[in-house]
Amino acid sequence: MSIAQLIDGKAIAASLRERVAQAAATLPEKPGLAVILVGDDPASHVYVRNKITACEKTGIQSFEHRLSANVSAQDLLAQIHILNADKRVHGILLQLPLPSHLDPNTMVLAIDPAKDVDGLHPLNAGRLVAGLPGLFPCTPEGSMLLIRSVEKNIAGLHAVVLGRSLLFGKPMAQMLLAADCTVTQCHSKTKNLAEICRSADILVAAIGRPEFVKGDWFKPGAIIIDVGINRLNDDRLVGDVDFAAASKVARAITPVPGGVGPMTIACLMANTVKAASL
Ligand code: NAP
Repeated sequence: MSIAQLIDGKAIAASLRERVAQAAATLPEKPGLAVILVGDDPASHVYVRNKITACEKTGIQSFEHRLSANVSAQDLLAQIHILNADKRVHGILLQLPLPSHLDPNTMVLAIDPAKDVDGLHPLNAGRLVAGLPGLFPCTPEGSMLLIRSVEKNIAGLHAVVLGRSLLFGKPMAQMLLAADCTVTQCHSKTKNLAEICRSADILVAAIGRPEFVKGDWFKPGAIIIDVGINRLNDDRLVGDVDFAAASKVARAITPVPGGVGPMTIACLMANTVKAASL
């Protein structure tokens, strides 16, 4: 029997998109998002398509730049510099992953931090740690909104983050810390993972392993945010959490799909409008 509240990421993202569209409409010029897509990765094409569609619905002008898989580092850097200088472009998103001959760190460093709507530039990462305003990664920002939709005051709660990537795990832990949680960050070398998870008031899983977080790893009443997106052999999409088991003990849980995923794009739109307002 399920007792957990289902956290409806689709509905929360739709209401955020509406607020972002209203904010975009009040700006003197239309906010602009440039998306750079290198190569033919089918999943990346779908993500980019979804981002362009979200721009259209939110009153954001989109600029799509498709580059061939064998583009040189020099040419990609030149494209980034053109967009840095383009006044119509307020946000630049470089769709990752890049082909192996291109170093993502070099490319991210080339993006003007004021247009870094993915929040990956070290200057923005540093601003997050320092508690200064900046542009921060969209998926953890969206996850914070989902947590706050369940519980506004999370000060003092024990938050456990599984995963320490630059894109998600590290900024997520920083955001929870800034909200006065006591944060434990776990990764592939962490010992006693199950025991740590069992003490989590807020459990955020982002490791990319299907249903890895098992039935008896949850604290009753926990808020569970499942960031993982894993496609099984039978084509089903599942998260990093055993959803059926977690639903029996958690206070609230995000579904996969329909939880964190829709928030990422809504927060990208929000970051673009924020960049245009600076
Ligand atoms: P990533 O860069 O591959 O990082 C995975 C992290 O999980 C690493 O820190 C790794 O530890 C840790 N890990 C792996 N196996 C583990 C284990 N057995 N026990 C504990 N920790 C383990 O992945 P990511 O970019 O953060 O993404 C994670 C998942 O979230 C993926 O499924 C991805 O598709 C999903 N995601 C979803 C969205 C969305 O919009 N919904 C956005 C971003 C990511 P080490 O550091 O020690 O290797």
